[in-house]
Amino acid sequence: MKLIQTKQELKEALKGERQRGKTVGLVPTMGYLHEGHLSLIRKARQENDSVVVSIFVNPTQFGEGEDYNTYPRDLDRDTEQCRSAGADMVFAPGAGEMYVEDSITYVDMNGLTDRLCGASRPGHFRGVMTVVTKLFNIVRPDRAYFGQKDAQQVAVIRRMVRDLDFNIQIIEAPIVREEDGLAMSSRNTYLQPREREAALVISQALFLAEQQIAGGERRGDFIRDKIIEKISSQPLARLDYAEIVDAAALTPIRVIKGSVLIAVAVKIGRTRLIDNIKMEV
Ligand code: AMP
Repeated sequence: MKLIQTKQELKEALKGERQRGKTVGLVPTMGYLHEGHLSLIRKARQENDSVVVSIFVNPTQFGEGEDYNTYPRDLDRDTEQCRSAGADMVFAPGAGEMYVEDSITYVDMNGLTDRLCGASRPGHFRGVMTVVTKLFNIVRPDRAYFGQKDAQQVAVIRRMVRDLDFNIQIIEAPIVREEDGLAMSSRNTYLQPREREAALVISQALFLAEQQIAGGERRGDFIRDKIIEKISSQPLARLDYAEIVDAAALTPIRVIKGSVLIAVAVKIGRTRLIDNIKMEV
């Protein structure tokens, strides 16, 4: 497996692959890898001749006062994990390599990015779309792999690929959870033991909603109120949002029917965590 830190070197390494007619799968990450990331890498390994994992803590998707500087980083450990999950190349550029200093161009979207996380993190998806576009142009993958954990991100990327005619298949993989239900996240490392315990309320609230819907409940407001009630019962949790939306358009739905996304964002202490479930009703 190759560790590559410049765009030029990566493009050259991939040129050979492409000339030999090999398919390329890309797994974009911000590193500090866990089983969630590894599930994407393994899936990419099964479906492509060559697998590239990018590891880049992207400054443009962090807002003022967010955790860009403290975001956990461990390239040695990540590289080892990529190797054992079957990656062929790790692309880990520095911020100065990824963005030329006087870069003034961004990729942006209307509507879809204003809701859910976009409402609490203005500019976040502009940063995501810009870096993903750059990665798509640098790697030119046949397939790119994203986790359902960031459900809005997948919806935004799918829409961007459609609207801007990227010839890339977007593949979504399910959320990988800890044994007790907490969705895996690099940010879980921020949690103090008491907070880690309190964070369980997030998946518990979602599972409760899932059960109620499976049991026949169809009132969106009712389910949403139950989620809010459950999360509010945990003193260390502060709700950012709980929404029941159409899984593709991300618009609120009153009657639960079709492809439904139930998404929540909660602050536990200073750590903002997101989670969701998707259901076909
Ligand atoms: P990140 O490093 O947090 O930017 O995540 C990189 C990719 O891994 C994104 O597509 C995430 O949705 C995905 N991912 C993160 N956590 C999980 C998880 N628990 N299960 C599945 N995919 C995940």
